[in-house]
Amino acid sequence: MRKIYIPDKVNMRADAVVIGGGIIGTATAYWLSKFGLKTVLVEAREGLSTFTTAASAECFRAQFTEPELAAIAKESIEVFENFAAFTGLNDCSIHIRQQGYLFITDEEKAIPDLKAAVEQQHRIGVGDTVFLTGEEVVKNFPYISNAVVGATFRQKDGWLSCHELTQGFAKASTAEFLLKTKAIGIQTDAQGVKAVATDRGVIQTRLVVDAAGPFAGVIGKMVGLDLPLELVRRQKTYIRTPKTPANAPFTIDLVNGSYWRPEAGGGLLGWVDPDEPPTPPLENPKGDYEFPLFCLEHCSRLTPFWAGVAENLKKSDINVSAGQYVYTPDGQPIIGPVEGVNGFYLNCGYWMGVMVSPATGRICAELATGKMGNNNNPFRLGRFAETSAKKGSSFLSGH
Ligand SMILES: Cc1cc2nc3c(=O)[nH]c(=O)nc-3n(C[C@H](O)[C@H](O)[C@H](O)COP(=O)(O)OP(=O)(O)OC[C@H]3O[C@@H](n4cnc5c(N)ncnc54)[C@H](O)[C@@H]3O)c2cc1C
Repeated sequence: MRKIYIPDKVNMRADAVVIGGGIIGTATAYWLSKFGLKTVLVEAREGLSTFTTAASAECFRAQFTEPELAAIAKESIEVFENFAAFTGLNDCSIHIRQQGYLFITDEEKAIPDLKAAVEQQHRIGVGDTVFLTGEEVVKNFPYISNAVVGATFRQKDGWLSCHELTQGFAKASTAEFLLKTKAIGIQTDAQGVKAVATDRGVIQTRLVVDAAGPFAGVIGKMVGLDLPLELVRRQKTYIRTPKTPANAPFTIDLVNGSYWRPEAGGGLLGWVDPDEPPTPPLENPKGDYEFPLFCLEHCSRLTPFWAGVAENLKKSDINVSAGQYVYTPDGQPIIGPVEGVNGFYLNCGYWMGVMVSPATGRICAELATGKMGNNNNPFRLGRFAETSAKKGSSFLSGH
């Protein structure tokens, strides 16, 4: 059977249709098919993981202070650590690097918050995060400025290949992946959803998962929903330079929101710009010409070797890419059924979708197959109308 292909015409029936072939939709399709559903995923673009997922810095961490996020991150990291065995694909490598996540600050006033974050993580089962003093930071990571007064660190955090992760989930599943096939409407009847209309034809189904990333709101509108999603462009840049220590952790300056990590022959740098305005979904988000310079300036504040890098750069040493973070009112994803639209499920609202995708794909598929009740689901859409939704307390969000 063909599995990942561009169909000529679509006229089929499926137990479940997933809309969107980023990491979230693909992981969801993996789990739905594992639970025995004949699953079809439709992806508007020419390949899987070619949109926001491809723009990601590909990092993962368990350092969350919100119990729900820590739980899905921990579960997902276990999958990453054992991906070949988990999928049964012996020749599959997602190139996992567990070089740690290091959140650094040069502000004394932030120290109590950092210590409290570590204590909270220990309470909720992330027992291996440590607080480091400024001296300990410089001793372990000599390229960090001695202006740093404290940090949190977890060695088992790190990064991986998003492309291999997505392809691995696709290959390990029995789902069909229809490329260049765009969902253009969702048909309903008295029972609920009954079909997905695409630009190549119709797929009859009683179960639809909206995993369209920044376009999840557009899909939601097809069944009359107004989802609480806010989209903000985020950029990253690759800079080729021999100066990057290859064994460094993913390093985040908590004061100015910049980050960097080593990447083959250089470094990946980014900056979460607090003034970037929300926008509608962008078909082709672009990076700014001057973004690498902003990153170098921001990263060099507490990692001084970045300061001299700009002088010797050629255009070919630099690459900039962009995508959109999808924020929800409490910073946590929206997963599960929707009241009043039987058979319609959400798996969207991510600013950190890669690192939690194995667990949230499972949760979505368990909800859709009745293995899990929505009352036990902390990510249900209904939480925003209840009092249970609160903004995450974590100062570590956005990276
Ligand atoms: C600069 C940057 C850095 C990031 N760094 C990290 C990081 O280090 N770690 C981390 O975990 N996360 C990171 N993220 C966030 C992460 O990339 C996203 O949360 C994640 O990729 C979301 O995956 P997704 O599958 O929901 O969305 P996408 O990858 O956008 O996939 C959605 C898919 O739906 C398709 N689609 C849309 N509409 C339709 C339609 N009508 N019919 C069919 N298909 C449709 C799109 O073509 C797309 O392929 C970063 C994001 C950015 C922008």
